Amino acid sequence: MTVSTIRQIKQQIQQLTNGESDNQQPSFWFTDWLVHVIDKPAIALMTDEDYQLSDSEVARFNDGVVKMQQGIPLAYLTGQQEFWSLSFRVNEHTLIPRPDTEVLVEQVLNWINVQPVQLNTKRLLDLGTGSGCIAISLAYELKHANWQIVAVDLSSEALEVAQHNAVSNNVANVEFIQSSWYQALPICDEPQFDIIVSNPPYIDETDEHLAGLTAEPISALSAPNQGLADIEHIVQQATIYLCTGGLLAIEHGYDQGNAVRKLFLDSGFESVHTVKDYGGNDRVTLGQVQ
Ligand code: GLN
Repeated sequence: MTVSTIRQIKQQIQQLTNGESDNQQPSFWFTDWLVHVIDKPAIALMTDEDYQLSDSEVARFNDGVVKMQQGIPLAYLTGQQEFWSLSFRVNEHTLIPRPDTEVLVEQVLNWINVQPVQLNTKRLLDLGTGSGCIAISLAYELKHANWQIVAVDLSSEALEVAQHNAVSNNVANVEFIQSSWYQALPICDEPQFDIIVSNPPYIDETDEHLAGLTAEPISALSAPNQGLADIEHIVQQATIYLCTGGLLAIEHGYDQGNAVRKLFLDSGFESVHTVKDYGGNDRVTLGQVQ
C-alpha cells in the first residue's frame, strides 16, 4: 500500500507545475482536484497535512492528473464550474463558462436597471445557451421582476445540462427549446422579445488557440467567416424578434469589435457600443432596435 498524505501530494503537485511550459495546467487545477477527491473543505490542505488518503482516493487523484495533463479541463473532471457566484453542472457537451461572460450578464442587468419601470411581462431570449449560465444567472437576478426567459440550444445534451442547472439554482422562469438559433421559435405578428443575448461560437477556424481547447465542443467555439458567421446570422435576424427599443447583446472575440459593431449598424441598430472584459479586451457589443 502506498502511503500518501496531503503533504506528500502537495509536493507532487509542486513538481508537476515546476517546469516552465506554455501549455502547462494551472496549479490550482491540481489543488482543487485534490480538494474535490478528498471531499474536505479547501482549508484542509493547510490544516490537515497529515491526512492519509485512501488507496482509492490516491488512484482517483492520479487518474485525474493524467487526464488534465492530456488536456481535459478541471471543470470536466469535477463536473461543475462557478459562474456569477452560482454553481453550474458542465460536461463535454457544454462550453465551460468563462469569467469574461459575466460582463455580458452585468451589461444586460445594467440596461434593465435604467429602463423605465413597466408592469407588463418582459421576455428575454438566450441563443446557444450551453450550460445555461447566462440565461440562469439572469433569471436568478430577475426572479422577483416580471421576466420570462427563453433559452435555446441545438444540442439536446446541452439542454439536459441547462435544465438540470435551472433546477439546481432554483430558477423557474426559464423555458428551454431545442433550436438552431431562431429556427424553432414561433414567428408571431409582433416581435416577441425585449432582449436577445448570445455567447455564440466566434473563434476563427484557423485560430491557433483552438489547439488548446480540444476538450470542449468545437461547435460551441468556432465558426466560419473569421469566426463571424453565427454572429452575423444572429444580428441580421434579431430585428425580426426584438421589440422596438429592444436590446441585443453579443459576446465576441477580442479582435471582432469593429466587425460586430458594423454588423449591428448595417442591421439598423442604434446606441451601438462595445464593452471590454476584465482583461481589457473588447468582448461584448450591444445595440438597440430603433
Ligand atoms: N471565450 C472563449 C474562449 O476564447 C470562446 C467562447 C466562444 O467561442 N463563445 O476561450
